[in-house]
Amino acid sequence: MALSFYHDDAFLLCDNQQTLQGVVATLRRASAIILDCEAQDIGYVGGQLSVISLGVAGSLLSSKRRGRQYHPVFLVDVLAFSRRQLRSLYDILEDENVTKVVFGGRHDFTELYHGQGVYMKGVIDLQIADVVSRDILEEDFEDQMERLGDRYFDDDVDIDRYDNIHRLNSLVSCVEEHDVDTSRIPHELKPYHSGRWLQRPLSFDQLIYASGDVLLIDLLYRYFRSMHLLEDDIYEQSAKYISLNIDARVNKNDEYWCHALLPLDIIYEADGIPMTCDGCGREMMSGNFARRGGRGRGRREDKCAVCVIIDFTGNFHFLRALHLLTIYQGYED
Ligand SMILES: [Zn+2]
Repeated sequence: MALSFYHDDAFLLCDNQQTLQGVVATLRRASAIILDCEAQDIGYVGGQLSVISLGVAGSLLSSKRRGRQYHPVFLVDVLAFSRRQLRSLYDILEDENVTKVVFGGRHDFTELYHGQGVYMKGVIDLQIADVVSRDILEEDFEDQMERLGDRYFDDDVDIDRYDNIHRLNSLVSCVEEHDVDTSRIPHELKPYHSGRWLQRPLSFDQLIYASGDVLLIDLLYRYFRSMHLLEDDIYEQSAKYISLNIDARVNKNDEYWCHALLPLDIIYEADGIPMTCDGCGREMMSGNFARRGGRGRGRREDKCAVCVIIDFTGNFHFLRALHLLTIYQGYED
């Protein structure tokens, strides 16, 4: 069964077998699918999936050259189905010949993998493509440092330590930075919603929220393609990035996993022998660990270059907060 759409609805809630069959039939014919998930604590310990938002790339309300027939964002209510009922949809997510376009898909992948037993393949992660594009657009080291801002850049840290440190964009900041026109999106982008993704029925604002990111990713994907910013190895880089937590979910308050820095060994590979980082726990080549005695000398540090920056800036922010608290308390007295 195929579904037809001629009206102006931005999304279609899919919570019964008949609609699900139609959605799967439509997605099967797509060469690229936009994907985004909503969940409670997505990808973290205790996470639980709520909605998988899916769109056929280039045929959404946000798309410029859509035909007379377009597709709404399909909001698949995961709680309305058994895993077996969702299997035909999951087969598409696991098919590496169908491109899935995501933004920051590490949490989506982790939730699908650990929560649903789905190994998503054929992924283009635009958050990674965005970092790669900075090289293509010839950004220099100063721009790279400016992006880190006060949160991650500390004057007291040896500048060499920042060589491989890149800040990731959020979806909205990425869309703004590339000046992508969002005027075709028919509703407010991030309406306030309860955040209670396991309650039913979902509110209208939650449904709008769940469909908004798919429309933004569709626009961004079109932009990256038109600007030739997607290189062949983006599939490989994306696969590495999204599967970082394939061994286990991480804790929601783990500071070495909850930051906006690009993990090492995703885009730029280092040489050496395998070592395990004491912060994030990842096994990486020793070139990702600085030497204690500075450049080229001494034993390697126990933490990778990213986790060391998290330690430095984390301490810095903690001390500053403590300092401000002391001043504040001083005034109070
Ligand atoms: Zn680390």
